[in-house]
Amino acid sequence: MLKPALSRLWRDRETLQFGAVRRHARVVESVDRTVAAFLELIDGSRDGATLLAAGERLGLDRDYCNAMLDSLAHSELLDDADALQQALARHPRPRQELLGPDLSSLSLVHPEPGEAAEVLQGRALARVEVRGAGRVGAGVAAVLAAGGVGAVTVADRGRVSARDCSPAGFPPTEVGRLRATAAREVVHRASGAAAADRHRRPVTETSAPTALVVLAPRSGAGAFTGLATEAQELMRAGRPHLYAGVVEHLGVVGPLVVPGASACGSCATLTRTDEDEAWPRLLAQLADDGPGRVRSPACDSGLATAVAGLAALHVELYLDGVLPPSVDGWCEISAADGMVRRLRLPGHPDCGCRWQTLPLARPGPTDTVRGG
Ligand SMILES: [Zn+2]
Repeated sequence: MLKPALSRLWRDRETLQFGAVRRHARVVESVDRTVAAFLELIDGSRDGATLLAAGERLGLDRDYCNAMLDSLAHSELLDDADALQQALARHPRPRQELLGPDLSSLSLVHPEPGEAAEVLQGRALARVEVRGAGRVGAGVAAVLAAGGVGAVTVADRGRVSARDCSPAGFPPTEVGRLRATAAREVVHRASGAAAADRHRRPVTETSAPTALVVLAPRSGAGAFTGLATEAQELMRAGRPHLYAGVVEHLGVVGPLVVPGASACGSCATLTRTDEDEAWPRLLAQLADDGPGRVRSPACDSGLATAVAGLAALHVELYLDGVLPPSVDGWCEISAADGMVRRLRLPGHPDCGCRWQTLPLARPGPTDTVRGG
């Protein structure tokens, strides 16, 4: 089928442009009424042979139709309608409609026919653990569930407070409930599960190991990769992890650490220490029980939502087999000016994390489940 997500725009009477985003747009020339009618038939309801026969009935030469289909395929304008259908059919019905736009987007990002379906299936089999259920963590979990990640678990203690609430995560009605329970329901709601099913475990059953852990503690310490003990445990287990958080008016996504293959949280701390030798001392005081801990943390709603969305997008890119810019770097968003910046993070020579350097593996859609 011609990718239904691409707009069809006439540049003039006979020139049809697929796609409005100029960088990816494709143009088909000499499209008269007959050819336009043939293009309309490529909607996923006919296989190749049926299309050629239909083209002949319109008065188009078989070779011409064949060449046209080849050319459309070469130009990344076609997707595999059956594969798309099957990828959605693996999800419960209410979820299929919700995932439709996400799958359409995947079909543009992963252009080969059938590729998007495979990527969505990879997400459905993946398991992601989010540690921390504040404005950022709960939001990340909800967005991942909405994007088709099969199992999203959220680990946190205590009860939801007003400052944990955000439009992407906990609604204000959840204040006072156990964070773990409320987070499970947020994930279920976001994934489109029926309200009656909300006490059940993951929407798509997956026995996959955790492909990635998102470190988004409520304190915002994820913004400064300040979770040394947890990070060491994840590094030892070879488990990919992403830091995300908001500190004061700064939101940070990254680094996304692929142990042994990309710069880690400790590389980030050492890099900051090169710029400010007092940094480790300051960082220690920022800990939850440290003397410098914030009494009333700042967390702009717009900023927290942007950080949650960007973090979830980076996780999805990683699961989909694309290395996001938070690998060997991090992204900063400022509530002061709304600017997004990407900073490079080379592996630090004093950090042992890359002494045994591994090739940076991209977890192809089907490998995702082995990511942990
Ligand atoms: Zn390191």
